[in-house]
Amino acid sequence: MYDPIYLEHNAPPGHPENKERLVRIMGLLEKQGVLERLVAVKATPVSLELLARNHSQRYIDTVRQVAERGGDHLDLDTYTSPRSYQVALMAAGGLVNAVEAVLEGKVDNAFALVRPPGHHAVKARGMGFCLFNNVAVAARYALEKKGLERVLIVDFDVHHGNGTQEAFYDESCVLYFSTHQYPYYPGTGHWREMGRGEGEGYTANVPLPGGVGDKGFSLIFNEFLYPLAERYQPQLILVSAGYDAHWADPLAAMQLSLAGYANLTRTLKAMADTLCEGRLVFTLEGGYQLDVLSYAVLNTFHVLLGDEEAVDPLGPAPRPERDVSGLIDQLKSLHRLVGW
Ligand SMILES: [Zn+2]
Repeated sequence: MYDPIYLEHNAPPGHPENKERLVRIMGLLEKQGVLERLVAVKATPVSLELLARNHSQRYIDTVRQVAERGGDHLDLDTYTSPRSYQVALMAAGGLVNAVEAVLEGKVDNAFALVRPPGHHAVKARGMGFCLFNNVAVAARYALEKKGLERVLIVDFDVHHGNGTQEAFYDESCVLYFSTHQYPYYPGTGHWREMGRGEGEGYTANVPLPGGVGDKGFSLIFNEFLYPLAERYQPQLILVSAGYDAHWADPLAAMQLSLAGYANLTRTLKAMADTLCEGRLVFTLEGGYQLDVLSYAVLNTFHVLLGDEEAVDPLGPAPRPERDVSGLIDQLKSLHRLVGW
């Protein structure tokens, strides 16, 4: 799922979340012969009714007005340009269409190559380069328009998806799982944040020190996420895919490699195949080193297509990685997963 309109959200000079990210991804997918193997899903603007299930009307109006007046910053790092409102509607709407295509069996799985990203956007405010929370809106669509009862959102962006967590904090219809560097932007995502009321236990945060790499992430996904998902029995898996936990990313200090990312994607694919008939939809969040970003997305498509190969021109992390086995034991006990 892609549309050239996503290039019309114009970044101020030097801003890492800019259109080159998608230009590089699409260029590589075409060059490597992957684009021609895919079924294109069309983007349309999200309905304002669905959008208002996740954002206040006042905030939606603010984004439209600020963009229409020529664009301005909503906060220090979150900008709009004249077309940003339309682009953001198409980002959320495109992901909704990708989810619809998967739920209706038109495609096996999907990746929505959108911008602006979404996982930091909260109900009444955009932040962290995000205007509307694409993944939260798409989950809401699956629940309310398609009658699903359990959606798993896996967020492996290096930043905590505070907006997505907030959207479903009181509810059990979404299990929100996030790995992120901690403490780090935006400051949320402590393991103690586990949900509230009906939602208690349906938020699973994995706050990580800098330096965790392929081995640590693989353990977390296989020994914590997998049993958590098995117990939850999701009907759909959405992935907030940020590629900023790579060792070469300029914004953070984790140590994943491209091969490591491909491995995580294989685990997610196996999980979806086993638990929910392969219903798996990725959406692009962060990732700011353009070689990393484009190859990581290419590898993701290879995994989704069932190919064996994973390309890693950047190689493994240059430093030894930090051990997380103690943290995994603590998380399993906290979420009562011991014995699973
Ligand atoms: Zn990020």
